[in-house]
Amino acid sequence: MTTATDIMNAVDALFDDQVAALSELTAHASTRGQEQSAQAFMARQYADHGLSTDHWRIELERIRNLPGFSPVIGDYEDAQNVVATHQSRSTKGRSLILNGHIDVVPAGPEDFWTTPPFQPRIDDGWLYGRGAGDMKAGLAANLYALKALRHLGLQPAATVHLQSVVEEECTGNGALACLERGYRADAALIPEPFAETLVSAQVGVLWFQVRLAGLPTHVAYAAEGANAIEAAQPVFESLHRLESRWNQPRHRSPDFAHHDHALNLNIGRIEGGDWTSSVPAWCVFEVRMGLFPGQSLDDAREEIAAAVAEGAQASAFLRDNPPRITWHGFAAEGYALSQDRSATAMAAIGALETAHQTVAGGPLERKPITATTDARFFGIYGQTPALVYGPKAENIHGFDERVDLDSMRCVTQATALFIADWCGLESA
Ligand code: ZN
Repeated sequence: MTTATDIMNAVDALFDDQVAALSELTAHASTRGQEQSAQAFMARQYADHGLSTDHWRIELERIRNLPGFSPVIGDYEDAQNVVATHQSRSTKGRSLILNGHIDVVPAGPEDFWTTPPFQPRIDDGWLYGRGAGDMKAGLAANLYALKALRHLGLQPAATVHLQSVVEEECTGNGALACLERGYRADAALIPEPFAETLVSAQVGVLWFQVRLAGLPTHVAYAAEGANAIEAAQPVFESLHRLESRWNQPRHRSPDFAHHDHALNLNIGRIEGGDWTSSVPAWCVFEVRMGLFPGQSLDDAREEIAAAVAEGAQASAFLRDNPPRITWHGFAAEGYALSQDRSATAMAAIGALETAHQTVAGGPLERKPITATTDARFFGIYGQTPALVYGPKAENIHGFDERVDLDSMRCVTQATALFIADWCGLESA
């Protein structure tokens, strides 16, 4: 009879290997469009474990009309997903998807990192590197949970899909492509780095680009021109006023009722002008805005367009030459696991609670998050409860990103116990 202690010990036995695999994976600079070598690494890891692997290029035509699709600029020539499948001999238990994203956000100016972002190092129980926490430690935990069971001569007694997807950080179209390809299960687990809490709800996200026109003149005659860069400031202010309105208590969804500022608007990129002594003829900036679960994307777009138009009123030139808004990148609805009252969701949450309690010695905390994850594809479009539960990490999207290795160990142990309970076990 295999006990929980046996399973936790098996994770311990393989942990040095797991850290080495995480380190190697983190060394792949898998920013958008550059994920191929990291995906090849994942495919090799899955194949080495004896899983059948499906490694394919995302085709836009197959997903662009599906609910949950986010518009993109350019093609998906380089966008590859990897899904490995464990096929059990018996089907005693329930099937499972263990999902993670391989894409990482840019490192930013490298001078601000203590050591280079794609040369991982371990210091005092933390592994440093861009993507180490968000979320390559999760990808490693998913695989090593299965490896720990194999170490004991066991395997899940139900189908398990391990997914390594692209595009999580900008559209979610990688997870959507898995859904389109037919991957389904009774539950999904996504070890995003939220410090071993269960994510009860996540916000939605809209990305958009605003293009402002100006009237170029020599700066000597600036009064005759219109400065497209300076005209952006009142538009920013108008958008932030919209942000304040959306965050007011009466707009909040139940999971965020006590959160003063769950929805954040970020002016994330800006470009404009051609010459220092020319009044700039153009300015383009890109914005990320959060939404509550249940908030309609169409209504949100309408309100955003109105806020941009209002901000443009400050400039006489823009009144006659209105800003142009392009919607590309995230068109992500919010998702609340807490609102899923199905028996399957209750059972999955219960199983994770037990697994976490066994490893951590305390109850599983539930928390809403002010970011989005791929959970929405399973939860909203796949009718599959999606549990977001992963290790503790710091400075994700910042400098010196790092993941707590001991926390990765606990999450791997909890995942292995969760699999044992949810899928059942059979001999390998
Ligand atoms: Zn992430």
